[in-house]
Amino acid sequence: MAKLEVLISGAGIAGCTLAYWLTRNGHSVTVVERSGSLRSSGSPVDVRGPAADVAERMNIATQLREASIHVKGMTLLDAGGRRVARVDIAALRSSIAPKDMEIARGDLARILKAASANDADYIFSDSIKALIQDEMGVDVTFEHSRPRRFDLVIGADGLHSIVRQLAFGPDSQFVQHAGLYAATISLPGSSDGGHEMFMLNTPGKLAAFHPCAGVPLAYFIFWHPEISEFDHTDLNQHKRILERTFAGIGWRVPEFLDAVRVAHDMYFDSVARVDVAKWARGRISLLGDASSCVSLFGDGSTLAIAGAYELAKALTESPADPQIALRHYQAVHGKLVASKQKNLISVASRIVPRTSTGIWLSTRLFWKTMSALGTAMRLGRQLRRK
Ligand SMILES: Cc1cc2nc3c(=O)[nH]c(=O)nc-3n(C[C@H](O)[C@H](O)[C@H](O)COP(=O)(O)OP(=O)(O)OC[C@H]3O[C@@H](n4cnc5c(N)ncnc54)[C@H](O)[C@@H]3O)c2cc1C
Repeated sequence: MAKLEVLISGAGIAGCTLAYWLTRNGHSVTVVERSGSLRSSGSPVDVRGPAADVAERMNIATQLREASIHVKGMTLLDAGGRRVARVDIAALRSSIAPKDMEIARGDLARILKAASANDADYIFSDSIKALIQDEMGVDVTFEHSRPRRFDLVIGADGLHSIVRQLAFGPDSQFVQHAGLYAATISLPGSSDGGHEMFMLNTPGKLAAFHPCAGVPLAYFIFWHPEISEFDHTDLNQHKRILERTFAGIGWRVPEFLDAVRVAHDMYFDSVARVDVAKWARGRISLLGDASSCVSLFGDGSTLAIAGAYELAKALTESPADPQIALRHYQAVHGKLVASKQKNLISVASRIVPRTSTGIWLSTRLFWKTMSALGTAMRLGRQLRRK
């Protein structure tokens, strides 16, 4: 079988998973990551359905389960911080999707990277600067490393992919602001063994507390038209936006904003849809958020893992003709992506209603129903055990 020399841009969820599968199938892999080390911030993400199956095949499911977070319930609060509904998350999860895992994004990235650390060559603090391709390969110039030639280049470098910008076109062609911004920040102290998540809605805004795996997190999500001067790398700008947007909200929000003020690493980005009609141009292809972002609510990681597996499988089946493999990968994985992208706005509107009436309706129709469902499932389980 022909072995490929592959460059992956981005040591995130998609890049590390792809590195594992390509090296396991005998290909030679270099991963270039812009950060100085694996990034540890970010909210918990879900490893669901097809991604949980991929994790089993990678023999990391036990590690993921050990690192996973066991949230028992989610309490919805009103603007005064009073409880209006509680959903039994543990009962819903164990009845509907027992194999799904919730895990801190940083822990997931660390476990995925460790799986290929001995076989792939990881270069940190560097980035691709230029890409020139011909029929047989791609000449790559880096910001720091010496130039090299590869058989294939895969952009697994997230929502703001440099590979997409260099080989496909400017972000304005592919990235569509979904109308929301989201931020997560670690809070000082520990969650003291708590397993409860709390969410507070005011019109167009959500502030939440997540116990995470011992290091609690605050979430901020809010509807806002595209901020023209938004810079996803400018931490001080992010702090100013959050202060402005969440000022005057009660409950624990002032404490969350205190943590924002002193933060050194905080996730803050526009919630966006990335739509690239063809994920490959010649010998350059996109994966994960770079090709088809559905950020927010955790599904991006499931798609990144499942997509990396499909891409590696397709390349291993047609190594002599990577272009056939790249088309096949999109034909298979594109179906899963389309099903998830469809739901983004409706889920967002339910979780972050834009008006007081919307909050009232969502509490009565959605959260109270989920609450009743969770209780019914717990009772059902208890009865079956007797
Ligand atoms: C630090 C961090 C925190 C996040 N937190 C959340 C969150 O709270 N909620 C949420 O919904 N989603 C979050 N995400 C996005 C979420 O991880 C992805 O939607 C999902 O995991 C898909 O994974 P991906 O591998 O495609 O992209 P990502 O996980 O975003 O990984 C992309 C990787 O590429 C790297 N990269 C970027 N530019 C370059 C470049 N020029 N050269 C080389 N490498 C580059 C990034 O540093 C990152 O390691 C976060 C992403 C990151 C990087």
